[in-house]
Amino acid sequence: KVRVRFAPSPTGGLHLGGVRTVLYNYLFAKQQGGDFILRIEDTDQSRYVPGAEEYIFETLKWCGLEPDESTQHGGAFGPYRQSERKESYRKYAEELVQKGYAYYAFDTAEELDQMRARLRTAENPSPQYDRNVRTQMRNSLSLSKEEVEALLQKEVPHVVRIKMPEGETVSFTDMIRGEVSFDTSVVDDKVLLKADGMPTYHLAVVVDDYLMQISHAFRGEEWLPSAPVHVLLWRYLFGEEAMPQWAHLPLILGPNGKLSKRDGAKYGFPVFAMNWKDPKTGELTEGFRERGFLPEAFVNMLAVLGWNDGTEQEVFSSDELVQKFSIERVHSSGAKFDFEKAKWFNHEWMKRLSFERLKLDVKDAFSKHELEISDDAYLDKIIALVKDRCTLLPDFWEHSFFFFKAPKQIDFAPVMAKWNPVKKDFFGHFSRQLLHVSEWKAPSLESLFKQLAEGANIKPGELQLPLRLMLVGGKFGPPVFDIAEVLGKEETVNRIEYALT
Ligand code: GLU
Repeated sequence: KVRVRFAPSPTGGLHLGGVRTVLYNYLFAKQQGGDFILRIEDTDQSRYVPGAEEYIFETLKWCGLEPDESTQHGGAFGPYRQSERKESYRKYAEELVQKGYAYYAFDTAEELDQMRARLRTAENPSPQYDRNVRTQMRNSLSLSKEEVEALLQKEVPHVVRIKMPEGETVSFTDMIRGEVSFDTSVVDDKVLLKADGMPTYHLAVVVDDYLMQISHAFRGEEWLPSAPVHVLLWRYLFGEEAMPQWAHLPLILGPNGKLSKRDGAKYGFPVFAMNWKDPKTGELTEGFRERGFLPEAFVNMLAVLGWNDGTEQEVFSSDELVQKFSIERVHSSGAKFDFEKAKWFNHEWMKRLSFERLKLDVKDAFSKHELEISDDAYLDKIIALVKDRCTLLPDFWEHSFFFFKAPKQIDFAPVMAKWNPVKKDFFGHFSRQLLHVSEWKAPSLESLFKQLAEGANIKPGELQLPLRLMLVGGKFGPPVFDIAEVLGKEETVNRIEYALT
């Protein structure tokens, strides 16, 4: 059975790349009738950030990408949080030591620092614990059996490191990149089990992918350099045949290389799924949800950031994505994020949403302005009128706040130079005539307006801006007679009268 996993470390909010990884996992699982597992990789307790786990679940819920198994959804392969699985890792680390694939290392932090200081050069600024230094360090490869036993007896703090073989080529087939090979000589002896008994990511990810029977593992390209370590661990512990099929997803690129949180701040676009406030620094990183994106658009935009179905089609519903997605069609090169394009997707999805659904979202956006909407029919008319001008949900307010708040201070500056008593009289007359209009529709209002303007010998064009200022308070909004139609007779007349006094 197809079983895929998303395995985030709860260290902060989820950026675009993280959500896209979830999405590709999810789409693949659903298409294959498989299961999507969410596993929390929190073995590095120093990087644990409170709130990050909840954030991940809320994001997945917002995007409609619910896991089948997780800390919240349960499942037969739990616990789904690695810190609660601590016991299962040590025995594998020990098995590796027994088989000669790993070793105990007793070096203190100072000894490691000294080693790095000794070996540091301009070409090699961060020397690693590799085959070359291994023999000079305090570990079970350089000490006698008795010495090692004694240290273990005395419970001297130690880690377990993998013993990278010399000059071997490790390869595997990546579903996106094809055959990928590594020379083991350039990989260092990574720590597998830390002094506190916690596994590192490398050991935990392999053990858990095995125990949770993961069949396919899709993750960010930044993990490709670690892949040889994982392949070897699979070979040593469970057999390479049992290894999941890997796909390393390409980076998402910003305006200058890899898309970063800083790009968002610098260019004014969100890079996180939802607002994230770092509990330590208080720093707020803006999210797509709060910026007014629809989850449908967000998901669609992410799906095609690095994948297409081979046609020109760009707008896909989730169901269509499940049907059409294929991991082999994911590009191996980075995909450039374009905020204008992201907005285009939102606009497209706004057109596709049912009116009822859009109305719920608009109401939600309006609630931020402490607006009580008692008249649903009024809201319907407003939405229908301004919908096409809106790209993001907050745009609805920007394009329609004046329907709920009559202008108080009207800035007549834009028309003042051409304002005169004749025009003022015209509006007085117009507003009295409005009271007798029986068919309150934009076209009839416009023809009345024109007819009266001609009668007063003024070009209607010169009167439209003043009318707009009276009705909405500024030089903005939809066509002015449409506004009047939605406002209704009483309100339109009131606003004109108010402006004239
Ligand atoms: N815990 C890793 C991360 O946060 C997961 C990598 C993987 O999927 O193997 O990116």
